[in-house]
Amino acid sequence: KRRNPHENEFHQAVEEIFESLVPVFEQNPTYIEHNILERISEPERMVTFRVPWLDDQGKTQVNRGFRVQFNSAIGPYKGGIRFHPSVNASIIKFLGFEQIFKNSLTGQPIGGGKGGADFDPKGKSDNEIMRFCQSFMTELYKHIGPDTDVPAGDIGVGAREVGYMFGQYKRLRGAYEAGVLTGKAPDFGGSLARKEATGYGTVYFVQEMLKDNNDSFSGKTVVVSGSGNVSVYAMEKATELGAKVVACSDSNGYIYDENGINLATVKRLKEEENKRIKEYLEFHPEAKYFDECNGIWSIPCDIALPCATQNEINEEDAKKLIANGVKAVGEGANMPSTLKAIDLFIENNILFAPAKAANAGGVAVSALEMAQNSARLSWKFEEVDAKLKEIMQDIYKHSIEAAEEFGHPGNLVIGANIAGFKKVADAMIWQGVI
Ligand code: NDP
Repeated sequence: KRRNPHENEFHQAVEEIFESLVPVFEQNPTYIEHNILERISEPERMVTFRVPWLDDQGKTQVNRGFRVQFNSAIGPYKGGIRFHPSVNASIIKFLGFEQIFKNSLTGQPIGGGKGGADFDPKGKSDNEIMRFCQSFMTELYKHIGPDTDVPAGDIGVGAREVGYMFGQYKRLRGAYEAGVLTGKAPDFGGSLARKEATGYGTVYFVQEMLKDNNDSFSGKTVVVSGSGNVSVYAMEKATELGAKVVACSDSNGYIYDENGINLATVKRLKEEENKRIKEYLEFHPEAKYFDECNGIWSIPCDIALPCATQNEINEEDAKKLIANGVKAVGEGANMPSTLKAIDLFIENNILFAPAKAANAGGVAVSALEMAQNSARLSWKFEEVDAKLKEIMQDIYKHSIEAAEEFGHPGNLVIGANIAGFKKVADAMIWQGVI
């Protein structure tokens, strides 16, 4: 905290990991001898840069860009780019730090990184988005490459933005390095099933957790926050598995449709027309709209899937979910539950799937995209989806086994943190004091 003052989100992420590593340090003093905690929580590198761009009125605008290259012990830095006005150093560092352990859990050779800008894509024209992405990449390209650092999408960055950034990278480098960015459109090297991967993966993970407790999605009432990339595909897979999704949201409010949300309408509004979730009511007047996004957690449900943003479930929200009989919580977003909310879920024996494990499907398929780009191949949707499912099952298995081995059976927070940490820490020790 002395070294990183005012970085609350980063402190929160580090605290969550460090607390759960206590049993590992008790069994393996070698990690203390190698001062792993202090080393792992200091990024290898972080760049901050000016992003100047011209808006449609010809006026010069300026934003701040970031890229943190946190840890490359097990592979090139890998992690998304976020465009949102709330982006700052603390948020980028918390996301980059989490990414180290998540990427390790996928079993693939990828290190941890993250980036973004405090740019607000809402209300911007397509040309403004393109000019911004080009300016952002004009600095970022100096720091990335298919074997050094491979960014992807995140909040506010989808296939369109990745495409514009890729085009600018290609011009600047004078080379077609397909594997420098993932989350590309399938027409030029994007993996099929990447768009679906985080949402589907979260549901596959929760499905494993339920199965292990003799339960399933079938017949369950589900609430999913957000209505972006992760939310839409979490809703789709949960519905496919027989659940009824009754609510979703955006940063303005939430909709409740007791008959089950019509996903085709949500997809059209959000993926094609860039509209607010409130407009759902125009097509489904029987649904209800509430002008406050956090109220979504007061809706009774069996399974809650927070898929919007960090700290969207606080202690009070957790209490409401528990009082209403929630059985399982699966984190599709990064760090959506506060530390106090997580404690409450665990104390009350709610099945809890932490983000690091549950939302690792997106980056896992990004690593599959890198593999396809290196081999100059494109795999079929079904092939990628089957691999994704297998990866999520493996992450569940390794996390639950680590929880058991280190004396906290069933605690996936501790299990996932330990399983992700050990591989990275061991690789750092192999590589000496670097
Ligand atoms: P999108 O930009 O596609 O969607 C984000 C959704 O969350 C939107 O509905 C947005 O509403 C809502 N939202 C954003 N900020 C807030 C806020 N401050 N309060 C309430 N709602 C908010 O992003 P993604 O779906 O890609 O990402 C969602 C979460 O999942 C993030 O935490 C991200 O880090 C995480 N994640 C994403 C992965 C991916 O593959 N995309 C991989 C792993 C994790 P609005 O439109 O009003 O802003």
